[in-house]
Amino acid sequence: MVKNIQLRISLKEEKIKDILLHKSAEDLNVSQTDISGIKILRKSIDARKPKIMFNYKVLVFIKEPLPETSEYKFNYKDVSKAKPIHIIGFGPAGMYAALRCIELGFKPIVLERGKNVQDRRRDLKTINRDHFVNEDSNYCFGEGGAGTYSDGKLYTRSLKRGDVRRIFENLVFHGATEQILIDAHPHIGTNKLPKVVQNIRKTILNFGGEIHFESRVTDFIIKDHQIQAIQLQNGKEFTTKKIILATGHSARDIYYLLDKKNIALQAKSFAMGVRVEHPQHIIDSIQYHCKGLRDDLLPAASYSLVQQVNNRGVYSFCMCPGGFIVPAATANGEVVVNGMSPSKRNNEFANSGIVVEINVDKDITKYEQFGALKGLEYQKNLERLAFTSGGRSQTAPAQRLTDFVEGNLSPNLNPTSYQPGLKSAPLHSLLPKLIGSRLRKGFEAFGLKMRGYYTAEANVVGVESRTSSPVNIPRNEKLQHPEILNLFPCGEGGGYAGGIISAAMDGERCAEAACKEKRQ
Ligand SMILES: Cc1cc2nc3c(=O)[nH]c(=O)nc-3n(C[C@H](O)[C@H](O)[C@H](O)COP(=O)(O)OP(=O)(O)OC[C@H]3O[C@@H](n4cnc5c(N)ncnc54)[C@H](O)[C@@H]3O)c2cc1C
Repeated sequence: MVKNIQLRISLKEEKIKDILLHKSAEDLNVSQTDISGIKILRKSIDARKPKIMFNYKVLVFIKEPLPETSEYKFNYKDVSKAKPIHIIGFGPAGMYAALRCIELGFKPIVLERGKNVQDRRRDLKTINRDHFVNEDSNYCFGEGGAGTYSDGKLYTRSLKRGDVRRIFENLVFHGATEQILIDAHPHIGTNKLPKVVQNIRKTILNFGGEIHFESRVTDFIIKDHQIQAIQLQNGKEFTTKKIILATGHSARDIYYLLDKKNIALQAKSFAMGVRVEHPQHIIDSIQYHCKGLRDDLLPAASYSLVQQVNNRGVYSFCMCPGGFIVPAATANGEVVVNGMSPSKRNNEFANSGIVVEINVDKDITKYEQFGALKGLEYQKNLERLAFTSGGRSQTAPAQRLTDFVEGNLSPNLNPTSYQPGLKSAPLHSLLPKLIGSRLRKGFEAFGLKMRGYYTAEANVVGVESRTSSPVNIPRNEKLQHPEILNLFPCGEGGGYAGGIISAAMDGERCAEAACKEKRQ
């Protein structure tokens, strides 16, 4: 017999050996010796009240053996001689498009502008140490895309767009911890993600796919509304019948290229703001109601905040407990910040984007001349402003949180995890009013929701500008561009994803659509 039950376990009980066995037997009124195994389906922390509880959903096997294997199977085939599908970009969307092509019997040929994960690491060091951005290899570009050197949070709201569980199981198949199948807020961590990405690369190569690194796509040859060939910056050319375009939201040159070729694009609403960084112990003490350090069994605490200010949402985005703020610019002359964390989330800082919704039809009317690229130009200007106010390097402009809200220049700043360093700057007056004034009100409101959050011990760092794509590449019901038959816009760059999991799911969907399409 198998029983599906829920258990609530206190912090004190969690420390007891075999507590799940004791509690399950008690709950089901059976003898512990009759329980042959327990499978945890879900684990979450309930910290709403001072007495912290763990909520478990478990399957209890009574006088019945535990099944050993996952119900998910990945049926990869030798595709070395199969029909090709070209995939541009090897982020989560491109990787999962390639894997799905192999399952469906097509040969993925991936073109990626950046380097493999090992070589990419050197370029990240150069950004942090020398303030030089390699425009093809950085925190956004390279093997695994923007998802490799990230927090690896695997949360998604796109539950209806595909089989989320399938992506999780595939990540485990490629080396991620099984814990991600259980945690209510799963994450992998930047120290573990490169291995998973390398394993995905190995699968693709072992089954006959191709991956070309340092292969930036610079042009398409189009005839009769169909792409015929792809041209690379290194002079190579690939003839092609189908392209999955998964270049992410930072590939501005791709948007410019499509625009230049009069291929329809649409401006899309997005969000921008700053990153706020607190000492982790402050967030722990608020969320776990504790005075000193958090209990060893508890992970670094996170938060999720939202507030309406003057008809626009102000909200926390990509919160990284126990993490680092990183320089995520993709070109020199701009400063962009984002966050990542190691798997243990054991750094002493908690950072989060705090961003304001930008309504592309109402908020940036001065940029109308840029048509579909108006949001992109607005975003670019803000990143340049951060560069100049930060001192024309990757040093980021910053202010103490209380000074930002009260409109004072900070005489000095708090310690930070941001390696290139911070420079005190009057962000409260530098940011456009539509963002700055809403953020200031938003922070005040957050201080009321989380007592202790509004503190001079936190820094506000500029700018968090790449939350999602400011451009949408349209596609029809066959997932092809309505004007270009064999072009499948995919992932975050197309405007169809907002994180690792949704991008991976969209990659699978585009691969399915491309494999189904008759033009072979
Ligand atoms: C620092 C950081 C932390 C993040 N943390 C999280 C997180 O914890 N959880 C989460 O869900 N999301 C996170 N994100 C967002 C997440 O990484 C993206 O949503 C996701 O990677 C989008 O996937 P994608 O495949 O659509 O695009 P991308 O990951 O952006 O991949 C696009 C790829 O295309 C390549 N490319 C671009 N132009 C060209 C060209 N012309 N020719 C060839 N190749 C090209 C790029 O080099 C890149 O590798 C984070 C992002 C960053 C930057």
